[in-house]
Amino acid sequence: MRRVFPVIVVLITLSVVGILFIQMSWINNAVKLKKEEFQRSMEAAIKMATDDIHNRFISKQNEIPTNEASRQNLIDNYFTVQRWFKKEEMSDIISNALKQNNIKQPYEYCILNILKYPVLNSDAFKVHLIANSYSSDLSSNNAIMGKETLYIYVYEDKNQVIREMAWMIIASIVFTCIIILAFAITVRTLFNQRNLSEIKSDFINNMTHELKTPLATISLAIDALTNEKVIHDTEKIKLYSGMIKEENKRMNKQVEKILQAARLEKEEIKLNLVKIDAHQMITKVAENLALQIQEKSGTLTLKLRASEPIIEADEVHFSNIIFNLLDNAMKYAKDAPVIEVETLSTGNNTMSIRIKDNGIGMDKETQSRIFEKFYRAHTGNIHNVKGFGLGLSYVKAIVDAHEGKIKVESTPGKGSTFTVSLPTRHFQ
Ligand code: ADP
Repeated sequence: MRRVFPVIVVLITLSVVGILFIQMSWINNAVKLKKEEFQRSMEAAIKMATDDIHNRFISKQNEIPTNEASRQNLIDNYFTVQRWFKKEEMSDIISNALKQNNIKQPYEYCILNILKYPVLNSDAFKVHLIANSYSSDLSSNNAIMGKETLYIYVYEDKNQVIREMAWMIIASIVFTCIIILAFAITVRTLFNQRNLSEIKSDFINNMTHELKTPLATISLAIDALTNEKVIHDTEKIKLYSGMIKEENKRMNKQVEKILQAARLEKEEIKLNLVKIDAHQMITKVAENLALQIQEKSGTLTLKLRASEPIIEADEVHFSNIIFNLLDNAMKYAKDAPVIEVETLSTGNNTMSIRIKDNGIGMDKETQSRIFEKFYRAHTGNIHNVKGFGLGLSYVKAIVDAHEGKIKVESTPGKGSTFTVSLPTRHFQ
């Protein structure tokens, strides 16, 4: 996965750049083709106009020539625009030829004689337009009456080609955007997947570690129990079976934590809301932990000052969240944990529970991520502390389910304070 990921990113980037490049050159080609097509139409139109002029000249003669040679002869000897054509007719011929060739832009025309002197021209024709005009000789080089040349200038609309291709350009921009968007989504998904797989392997490592220790202790205790010397010593039997029980309890706790998370995954939080006295519950959880805190020479102080401690909550989940927060305050202590639990009625029918410790604290980045499932801070010696990174995500989910709020304030090296605010509801 680690090596495949950059390869995929490079391949997709290359193909997106390639597609962009191909599209650009494709559009460029299309613009060129359109221009060539216009040129061809103009050449056909001017040829059509020339033929029409000659045909009309022939039809104006008293004697219509019967073969090509005498027809050419007639043109060479007698054809001049000046003599045989008027402005209106010429405009007619040119308009018609342009229209037949699908050229709809406005135009100017001019016919110059051999001395480059205009013999007939449209009203707005200017000499400088000749440089950009399409031209056709009206008489052959043997013309007795002098050579005349027809010039047609078409006001080219520079944006015409772009406009004609607008849908093509818009469609390719839209599709390119879609490809880039899909690419971005794919890369993001890949990143997420990678993070997820890292999280997963972290979790499996943690879990194995967490379960291996009690299993090893149990195995050692069982070995001891089967020992000849121990079998007859009731004191020792009590000691070892007590150890097995303790370790069993610890494993149960771990499994329960994983199950809690699995339940949350399936969004199976079913709250059994009852009226409970938060102070009573907090005191009960604190009493359960008192022994462990004493073992670490720590203190746990309760400042239960909320004037309205009665809340509507799920008894089991509520004591779990208090337990998880106190457990963390103990787990992430530097040396002897000094923990303080304070409750306050904060108006608006809300009760806050603040759990303050003097532990290792967290930096801002950690604070913003601790409520994510499986997140564990990866700094310092925190990894010596065991855990799955599930406790706080569970706490957050339960607080949310109770329509409460949880926040954390922390200073690395000094300690952390978690504040849970829960609505107090009153029963009639
Ligand atoms: P776990 O404790 O199993 O790792 P949690 O979800 O309870 O999982 O906590 C997530 C992370 O938040 C911990 O790994 C730790 O880095 C940090 N954390 C939680 N509580 C505290 C605390 N009181 N002091 C310092 N860090 C804490």
